[in-house]
Amino acid sequence: MTKVRVRFAPSPTGYLHVGNARTALFNWLFARQNKGEFILRVEDTDVERSEKEYEDQLIKDLQWLGLDWDEGPDKGGDHGPYRQSLRMDIYASYSQTLIENKKAYYCFCSPEQLKRERESARAEGKTPVYSGTCRGLSPEESKQRIEAGEEAVIRLFTPDRGTLDFHDLVRGSLSFQLELIGDPVLLRSNGLPAYNYAVVVDDALMGISHVIRGEDHLINTAKQILLYKALEFDPPLFAHLSMVMGEDNTRLSKRHGATSVHQFNQEGFLASALFNYLALLGWSPSEEKEVLSKNELIHKFDLSKVSRSAAVFDYDKLHWISRQHIKKLSAREIAEKAFEPLQEEGFLPDEMSDKQWSWLQKAATALIKGISCFSEFPEQFLIFFSFSPKKMTEDARKVLETECGTKVVQALSKELKQTLRVNFDKLSVISGEIKKQTGCKGKDLFHPLRVALTAQTSGLDLDKFIPLLEQGAKLDFPVPIKNCAQRAAETDRFIQGI
Ligand code: GLU
Repeated sequence: MTKVRVRFAPSPTGYLHVGNARTALFNWLFARQNKGEFILRVEDTDVERSEKEYEDQLIKDLQWLGLDWDEGPDKGGDHGPYRQSLRMDIYASYSQTLIENKKAYYCFCSPEQLKRERESARAEGKTPVYSGTCRGLSPEESKQRIEAGEEAVIRLFTPDRGTLDFHDLVRGSLSFQLELIGDPVLLRSNGLPAYNYAVVVDDALMGISHVIRGEDHLINTAKQILLYKALEFDPPLFAHLSMVMGEDNTRLSKRHGATSVHQFNQEGFLASALFNYLALLGWSPSEEKEVLSKNELIHKFDLSKVSRSAAVFDYDKLHWISRQHIKKLSAREIAEKAFEPLQEEGFLPDEMSDKQWSWLQKAATALIKGISCFSEFPEQFLIFFSFSPKKMTEDARKVLETECGTKVVQALSKELKQTLRVNFDKLSVISGEIKKQTGCKGKDLFHPLRVALTAQTSGLDLDKFIPLLEQGAKLDFPVPIKNCAQRAAETDRFIQGI
């Protein structure tokens, strides 16, 4: 196989959509597994919609996801520039060659005239195709009109009969009717290149071996192959990926949930998890194992096994994959990831002492089971940082209204108030004492204990929770943690008021 050179060619007109990120990722995996090159090219010829802010964010998002490139706008390379807005003279020069070789022509049709043509074609139920009005103009006449200052676009001569056939690495043999293609515009009257033209010039000059992109570009590929022929360039191989859909089988959009890589990053997903999940959108490994690292994916990915059917973005599966990746983190990594969202919530100080870090490691590790992304952490930490019997649920209240409920809370409150001898690291010491005093045991003992200390009916195991609560209460957090004695006393006052 010739040297693999693939590219990701985003238009900086919005945030990086997960569908496009999946395209970037498949290109990247293909490049890395073939020891080839992955190129980033910014397609910013749509001047009105392209924004530098989007380009900067796009670069950050690709970097966060772990997709590094060998050549690109920020990095340079032998085939630059890698931003289309800096390649205008290249496009102009190739279009002149096409005109000189009579493979392209100037078209003076006005936008209004073209609009009328399109509308009447639609009214007749036909696909709008350029009628070819300017095809027959002599080069001399065209030259005169251009020199006289008349506006014109440059169009490619395309055969209007027969088919254009090509082999797609994902979709197999494909055939397009040439009469439905028309003569594509290469250069607009303002000198800006049309997408199909710029992309062919760039892919050819950048030595791209494989174009892997979304199947919404299939009809463009037919036009582009005609352009490769006209420009006497060898076309690359093509692989068109199915679209990424929501569960209702419409294109994945905001209606379905988060759709940009930036959003998933902000929600606190691990890059490794999103990477893993995106790789499974339209491809699956031959063995069962789906939780895979970047290196495993480089090794296992197989472009020839990419599915033709639509890939459905399954948020539940992403959460599951995410939990599997989170499980692999060390306590220290978990604490580091937890820090930012908790600090933003106001629970943690800007500067943490060693003791606070060590507490955070233990508490975050204890709570990690319940989360699939780190933005869910503040809610989990409410069990420490927020305690108010007044806000307890109906279920919890019912537990306290039983005979044992009331007795256990009173005994607990009294016991914790008058004595320092309770060893909080041993739940059994407290529960044994309360059991002796109240005669309540089993769930009649433990349910009220939990409600008295958490105002909830479920959550962390009490033997993990109590020592963490007591340690946390001694640390100077911006939102102070109430210890067992304070909580029991509040709950006791609360039930007296019921
Ligand atoms: N700029 C185009 C897009 O974002 C690139 C398509 C292609 O890969 O050729 O859709």
